Amino acid sequence: MKFYEYKAHEIFRKYGIRVPRGVLATRPEEIVDPPFPCVVKAQVLVGGRGKAGGIKFARTLEEARENARSILGMSIGPYTVRQVYLQEMLDIDQELYLSITIDRSARAPLLMASVQGGVDIESVPENRIFRMHIPPLVGVQPYLLRALAKALALPEEIATQVSDIAGKAYALFRGEDAELVEINPLAVLKDGRVMAGDAKLIIDDNAEYRHPEYADLPQDRTPLEEDPEKVNQAFEILLKANPSVILLNIFGGITKADTVALGVKEALEEMHVNVPVVARIKGVNEGRAREILAGIGHPADTVEEAAEIAVKASTGGA
Ligand code: GDP
Ligand code: MG
Repeated sequence: MKFYEYKAHEIFRKYGIRVPRGVLATRPEEIVDPPFPCVVKAQVLVGGRGKAGGIKFARTLEEARENARSILGMSIGPYTVRQVYLQEMLDIDQELYLSITIDRSARAPLLMASVQGGVDIESVPENRIFRMHIPPLVGVQPYLLRALAKALALPEEIATQVSDIAGKAYALFRGEDAELVEINPLAVLKDGRVMAGDAKLIIDDNAEYRHPEYADLPQDRTPLEEDPEKVNQAFEILLKANPSVILLNIFGGITKADTVALGVKEALEEMHVNVPVVARIKGVNEGRAREILAGIGHPADTVEEAAEIAVKASTGGA
């Protein structure tokens, strides 16, 4: 589950990581009172927005709207920009890099940091990147933060803040079941404060059930999950056989049950299927799947129950 920057900022705030103020907009006319001067930022689920022209500075309302107009609708990677975030412009002195991710081969979270931030970490020379595993049982300990501060060789007031943010970023990483927390740039401001200028957050899909608070957020899906077309085709084939009832038994493995249910619902509505449909769907988010299906067919918990309903329905009893 990837998060838009504005949402990631909201979560960062919850963990006490300083982020710029900002407002979200989907249309230029909606912009009335952003913090000035501001940065108009495309909200898409990929980085490299700056290079793609998705980040523009504005000093007046007119400029902010004009920039928003040019960014909205723009394509960045596979995404079309639907929202812009107007963020308080930071007076940046230095751009650092900080991230926590999972190093699967070491079976541990990995903290990475560099004083060469603001650019793709892939383009930073290996010897300019600090890397240290975080022992999952004890978390971020003082020795680790001392090593970080030493490696970055920053003035003490800055190093203290960076260490503090690293600790909080790890609290967020654990607390939200993240796979990635990336702050690039971690901005050192001219006034000496250190702030997350950009925020990338990915939460492990397998932990989704632990975060019902994020269930309704727009998020990226695999092409299969987004594609009700395949479900449509399956129904087309089924309907050629003139069935008196359709029984669906779906065991969701990787694909989410509620996404399948939405696909089924769309297909049924689009194709005006008027045979009774009984569905047993098991898998991630099956509760939501059942709610979705309740509107269009007969959801069932078990195959036995589904079969019983199907028999009744085909003989006109359900
Ligand atoms: P990304 O291109 O998707 O990684 O988006 P970022 O939010 O990281 O912005 C890209 C770059 O634009 C940053 O590395 C900065 O150099 C610059 N930038 C973004 N926001 C600000 C800001 O508030 N002040 C300044 N001075 N530069 C900014
Ligand atoms: Mg960035």
